[in-house]
Amino acid sequence: MFTKILIANRGEIACRVAATARRMGIRTVAVYSEADANAKHVAVCDEAVLIGPAAAKESYLCGDKIIAVALATGAEAIHPGYGFLSENAEFADACAEVGLVFIGPPASAMRAMGSKSAAKSLMEKANVPLVPGYHGDEQDPDFLQQQGDRIGYPVLLKASAGGGGKGMRVIEKSEDFKAALASCKREAISSFGDDKVLAEKYLLRPRHIEIQVFADTLGNCVYLHERDCSVQRRHQKVLEEAPAPGMSPERRAAMGEAAVAAARAVGYVGAGTVEFIANQDGSFYFMEMNTRLQVEHPVTEMITGTDLVEWQLRVANGQPLPKTQAELGIHGHAIEARIYAENPEKGFLPSIGTLRHMDTPGAVSFELGGTPGGSPAAVRIDSGVREGDAISPYYDPMIAKLIVWGADRTQALARMSQALAEFQIVGLATNIAFLKRLVEGAAFATADLDTGLIERNADTLFPPPKAAPVGALALAAVALTGAEKQASSGQSHNRSDPWGNALGWRLNSAYQRQLSFSDEYSAAKESKAYKVGLTYRPHGWDLSVNGIDAELAVTAQAGAELSIKLGATSIHGAVRRDGDTFHVFTGGRHFVLVYNDPMAHAGEAEAAGGRLTAPMPGKVVAVLATKGQQVKKGDPLVIMEAMKMEHTIGAPGDGLVEEILYQVGDQVADGAPLLAFKAA
Ligand code: ADP
Repeated sequence: MFTKILIANRGEIACRVAATARRMGIRTVAVYSEADANAKHVAVCDEAVLIGPAAAKESYLCGDKIIAVALATGAEAIHPGYGFLSENAEFADACAEVGLVFIGPPASAMRAMGSKSAAKSLMEKANVPLVPGYHGDEQDPDFLQQQGDRIGYPVLLKASAGGGGKGMRVIEKSEDFKAALASCKREAISSFGDDKVLAEKYLLRPRHIEIQVFADTLGNCVYLHERDCSVQRRHQKVLEEAPAPGMSPERRAAMGEAAVAAARAVGYVGAGTVEFIANQDGSFYFMEMNTRLQVEHPVTEMITGTDLVEWQLRVANGQPLPKTQAELGIHGHAIEARIYAENPEKGFLPSIGTLRHMDTPGAVSFELGGTPGGSPAAVRIDSGVREGDAISPYYDPMIAKLIVWGADRTQALARMSQALAEFQIVGLATNIAFLKRLVEGAAFATADLDTGLIERNADTLFPPPKAAPVGALALAAVALTGAEKQASSGQSHNRSDPWGNALGWRLNSAYQRQLSFSDEYSAAKESKAYKVGLTYRPHGWDLSVNGIDAELAVTAQAGAELSIKLGATSIHGAVRRDGDTFHVFTGGRHFVLVYNDPMAHAGEAEAAGGRLTAPMPGKVVAVLATKGQQVKKGDPLVIMEAMKMEHTIGAPGDGLVEEILYQVGDQVADGAPLLAFKAA
């Protein structure tokens, strides 16, 4: 076995690979960019070497620098993780040239499957069913539009070199074809350096079902069953599970054998995934093969009791697959949720910032493969970040993968919902509350799965904000007054501190005070803020809010954890403060309450002032408006690329474009005005 490997990746997958290597007694070398000097993956590896600036093009994508580090540190093999160089055949060749083992398939298999178009031609020959479409070399826009017309709308455009849903465009009618093609090609060239596209019939209500395959160098090839990854947003996976609900043993065997045939057709070695798109009636078509370990591999590990990174290392070392097809059963059910720094309510826009606080569900165990002969850990968290780390605009905004196992789907679902309720993050927007609604919603619970599940259930998944419950307001009020008390008792000598004398404690007399909090709901309703009245008593308060009056007492406090009694009701929660923002976690929910501090400067909210600003730091990729142009509400004005996605900035209303402040290629900061706009 290898004695030392280099991990050419970052984040959770780098940490994940390091964990297995450590267990197997293999030393690890991390590489990192300037943005990642304090990253978790650097800390968990035995050695770490800086390879360049933050931009991936200058660091994690620099194969030559990474190979030089491997040679200099004496690593024998390179694990590429996923993304970055993992499916780069030139990199695999370059490793081989200097005698390094690339932990992945042969470069020839990557080349064969690297282009979605070429892979389809190959599969066509191997009699694997394909979605009707055009995957040839001709790229003339008029010709492609004719192909779209021939296929029949809706049509899906994909970047041939694509991945991660990037570049994909659904076209509803012929008139929209050219604009979608231009946008797809633009995203394809910037994400993959290749603007070749393919067009295919856009299936309605399909499921995404993929098969994990594994092959060794001795001619063995097995399938480790399926994963259902139908729950997606913007063609990107959100929830993944194994096994797929409703899968019959016959269909599983048919899909598994088709996947093995696909792998064998390209002389595959190592871990790979054959993706199929399936109709509700069970018929399935080949979509593509991913020639690497996938983000969602843990659900497969959980139901098969395997460690797929260990398998990768063994196979790369020339050893046989640890199990035969007959030995690969299915034990229980596993679900993975991807926890992202993003804002589901704002079209899943990535959110960047610092993880000021991160509390992960209890009873976590990172026992890969589970206890010998027993069940896997109930909850597993694969994360590449720790409290205090930043989610930067340079890389994928994934915070963690939360994976749960249950004896059956019902138990796995219950554990997922519980674990999400215990996951506390403060400092940036996350999709946790959204994921909780998703796994608790009827559609997912009853396995009514297809790739449109999120859009179809938008009403229940994106409910209008509700008023904060009295309990959450009471917890925030207690945390606030508790902090004031501490501040004033600790620093009462500080005369300039307004809180130095702000204590409410008066012997034998009641002292009243009114606190004001706002949240999304109060802002949306313009109903002003919540007024929380507190009347101080010797052993507690009387609380009055929303017309409710109740006695309030603190029964226990440990750090951020608070137990209170409100009238006859006991309430437990945790309150994390971030400046004037109180994050209240109670009853499995997260309330964000902003304290309207009477001592602070009156809200210096920046007036929108007719300027359209960048929603996040990024690059301008297209300017669609011209100075002096009259536009209609919603007209696209500027397209920015940030966090590997395109964001279109549209006109907020009818009006005039007075000035364009940036040009294509310019880098813009978060909140920077992009153009001056005068409403009509
Ligand atoms: P990528 O490599 O960018 O992830 P895929 O080809 O794997 O792209 O497709 C990603 C997702 O897009 C699929 O899981 C599915 O939801 C959707 N999709 C792909 N092809 C089709 C199609 N022909 N009809 C409907 N949806 C599709």
